[in-house]
Amino acid sequence: MCAVVGVINSKNASTYAYYALFAMQHRGQEASGISVSNGKNIHTIKAKGEVSQIFNENNLKSLSGNIAIGHNRYSTAGNSSLNDAQPIAVSCNIGDIALAHNGNLVNKDEIRFKLIDEGAIFRTNMDTENVVHLIAKSKKSSLKEKFIESLNYCVGAYCFVLASVNNLFVVRDKFGVRPLSLGRLKDGGYIVASESCAFDLIEADFIRDIKAGEMLIFTEGQDEFESIQLFKEEPRICAFEYIYFARPDSIVEGKSVYEIRKKMGANLAKNFKEKIDFVVPVPDSGVSAAIGFAQSLNIPLEMAIVRNHYVGRTFIEPTQALRNLKVKLKLNPMSKVLKNKDIAVIDDSVVRGTTSKKVISLLRVAGARKIHLAIACPEIKFPDLYGIDTPTFDELISANKNVKEVLEYVGADSLSFLSIEDLKQSIGNERAYSLVSFDGNYFIK
Ligand code: AMP
Repeated sequence: MCAVVGVINSKNASTYAYYALFAMQHRGQEASGISVSNGKNIHTIKAKGEVSQIFNENNLKSLSGNIAIGHNRYSTAGNSSLNDAQPIAVSCNIGDIALAHNGNLVNKDEIRFKLIDEGAIFRTNMDTENVVHLIAKSKKSSLKEKFIESLNYCVGAYCFVLASVNNLFVVRDKFGVRPLSLGRLKDGGYIVASESCAFDLIEADFIRDIKAGEMLIFTEGQDEFESIQLFKEEPRICAFEYIYFARPDSIVEGKSVYEIRKKMGANLAKNFKEKIDFVVPVPDSGVSAAIGFAQSLNIPLEMAIVRNHYVGRTFIEPTQALRNLKVKLKLNPMSKVLKNKDIAVIDDSVVRGTTSKKVISLLRVAGARKIHLAIACPEIKFPDLYGIDTPTFDELISANKNVKEVLEYVGADSLSFLSIEDLKQSIGNERAYSLVSFDGNYFIK
């Protein structure tokens, strides 16, 4: 999953990168890092943990320079050791470079084994390291040409930010699966970030999204930047960014994530015929969709489940036992509100079914009478290989059970999912999306 940021032409490059990463903490909490160029070389600080635990006034001061890149890690390739934190910073035949990546390269093993055969020594388990090797090995003369040549070997979803001592390169894969936006800082510098919510925090002005297949090249001290359209395909942003991953206050490809989630909720309500007293969101993931659902049915919404914000997301700990514990630690239904009530519970998605099952059982204990679970996305039947951390077929409940069986598993009185058609209609039918989790169309090959 992950977040990336790149800043150039600002004396406060590392501080801006820090705040941008802070705003995008939801995209990855395993590790964070910032690399800064001072015009001669590149310095990096990275560690496991959350952004605010890793960086402080002192270490940010030590990262002085006008170009910075940064990364929040949520492992979809490699593992969660410090070794696999980004940016990856190296010295090679064209000087110091640092690279950070959001996405997933589907041909990573093929390239890695070929490079190892040719004598490369890998220091991490990450697909991102392939690119650094490819750049260093390239016989082209400039970093721009070396980077472009390396990208020709990369099949998959990616947003890369690459810093050299004098340049910042940013590039989005040919389908534009992961989001990446360009903004202007108050002090005149530029910023690129995975999500526009990063710009809000530092009062940067949104300029535009980086296009699918586009590379931007910025040079230190120059206001003009170069844009190269490397690939031309019909863009397919990942629908899961709108469903779950992006922050609701982000604008992704010109569209408000919050408004789209509300539309998903309203579309989900179209076929809902049960009699209920009120609508209850699973916080925070189901809140925007629940608002749309309740508004369209003109039924009250009650925040009858309270979330403890001091617990991380349920996916963070990799073991099944802890995942269950975390749902219980995180969500507390209020029995005073719920006792003897018939309710619709709204969440954004069902992956393994763990959250829904726990939520329904907690709601039963709290005294709710009829519990209708409505999910504001289609059944997730296929693992996403393009940078969203969904598990294998074996673990995906909807890959193995039909709606009736999932209903039995979670223990609700009814269960409904948004249709793929209604999902597309909610985001906007005028363009194509990566819907791989729902339709199994692995279009990047
Ligand atoms: P599960 O409990 O495995 O069914 O996961 C579903 C819950 O996890 C939902 O409430 C979502 O908000 C959240 N979720 C969905 N997709 C992901 C993901 N890729 N990573 C982390 N959390 C997710």
